[in-house]
Amino acid sequence: MSDGTEFLESVGRMVSRATEIMGLPEGLAQTIQHCHSVFQVRFPVKIRGDFQVFEGWRATHSEHRLPGKGGIRYASCVSQDEVEALAALMTFKCAIVDVPFGGSKGGLRIDPRDYSREELEDITRRFTSELDRKGYISPSLSVPAPDVGTGPREMGWIATTYRTLHPEDIDAYACVTGKPPELGGIQGRVEATGRGVQYGLQAFFSHPEDVRAAGLQGGLEGKRVVVQGFGNVGFHAARFLEQEDGARIVGIIKRDGALLNESGLAVGRVQEYIAEHGGLKGCPEGTFQEDGDAALELDCDVLIPAALENVIHEGNAGRIRARVIAEAANGPVTFDADRILTEAGRVVIPDLYLNAGGVIVSYFEWTKNLSKMRFGRLERRLAQTRNDSVLSLIEMATGSPVPERMAAALRADVDEVNLVRSGLEDTMRTAYDQIRDMQARNEQISDLRTAAYVTAIGKIARYYTEYAL
Ligand code: NAD
Repeated sequence: MSDGTEFLESVGRMVSRATEIMGLPEGLAQTIQHCHSVFQVRFPVKIRGDFQVFEGWRATHSEHRLPGKGGIRYASCVSQDEVEALAALMTFKCAIVDVPFGGSKGGLRIDPRDYSREELEDITRRFTSELDRKGYISPSLSVPAPDVGTGPREMGWIATTYRTLHPEDIDAYACVTGKPPELGGIQGRVEATGRGVQYGLQAFFSHPEDVRAAGLQGGLEGKRVVVQGFGNVGFHAARFLEQEDGARIVGIIKRDGALLNESGLAVGRVQEYIAEHGGLKGCPEGTFQEDGDAALELDCDVLIPAALENVIHEGNAGRIRARVIAEAANGPVTFDADRILTEAGRVVIPDLYLNAGGVIVSYFEWTKNLSKMRFGRLERRLAQTRNDSVLSLIEMATGSPVPERMAAALRADVDEVNLVRSGLEDTMRTAYDQIRDMQARNEQISDLRTAAYVTAIGKIARYYTEYAL
């Protein structure tokens, strides 16, 4: 069985487990489980004097709300099953965090490291034209974003290609999110998924009963964290947890191996080393170990898989010693592994909740593009004047200065990045509370993942039952 097939099957079994608990009628359960449509394309691009054929997909899992939202992945192992599984997760993710989108996902089978910047631009622009011809990209129907192997640069190429194809569409730049700021991107999108992982973990650690259930106590400070994958999501999550929550990052795992340091790795310095040397080997910040997979089994408080799917499976789940597994990646734990972990008393904070930060901020970016105005533009000056007056009034009335922490909170700029962070934090906290309430209310639900699926599917089922045409 290929990785993609196993991933799709795993997601399917997770959905079925939830729909059975909910007692959904079979037809409705099937409607919610399966992808509504998938577009597969092969297209040639002239590379170094010869044609090369590229294969790509875009899946729309659910159109109960539009546009369908979900990233575009560039990786050599991309397959239709993988894209379908990822599109399904997007549907449930959007429902959990009340982002009014359906689920979509795209993938191109390519190892971006084999191509120059110019070649990648040609390939991306051609892929965008193919998606456009079949209606698999538009501000109202299907809106991509970055995923593994893609980032703001690729989103910029997609946005400008679509804009050229649709000069009459005033909302053209809303066809994709995660764009560079000069093309309508939003402050805080690049790090949004990592930020969301941080907020999700903060939400978990703010509930002492949940922390106790994992066999831990206290907050994030001093917690020993291992991160697998040090790309967009893993790097930002590790950086925020280390620098803002005082967590100890005791292990970082990349493709070439793992870097370990029981006293805590300096995330910024590790990143600088990777940028210069291309990998972890030789990094003086810790001890290098070639077997990266073995590092998943290290004794730690929180394991954050932030690379790819199926990395914790039936074969290694029994050896995972982390008390909390925080799924920053999509599908890192298979259905069978999930069962083994849960039975062993591990707490899994599931992907469909924990890595939703990216789509939450993508939603903010999309609405910004439709409104054509950056967040905070109207109210920033007014808020500043009002906050300065409140501060002066308090100091005049009390005759003493307001403590620095409170003064800083009152002076916080009402600019785009702060508004984005505030909206993201609020959404992540609210969604966590919804999931844990669901778990507490239903005795058939013993884990956060099932609670998350039941919460999401409940919202989608209501929509289908009441409004489906
Ligand atoms: P990325 O391409 O920026 O980084 C991926 C990282 O994983 C790289 O550091 C790579 O070296 C590492 N990696 C790949 N294979 C590995 C292996 N076998 N062992 C260890 N490390 C390996 O990708 P990303 O955007 O950070 O995405 C990571 C995960 O997060 C994916 O599952 C993706 O679907 C999910 N995700 C991403 C976003 C987003 O906004 N980018 C949003 C939600 C979910």
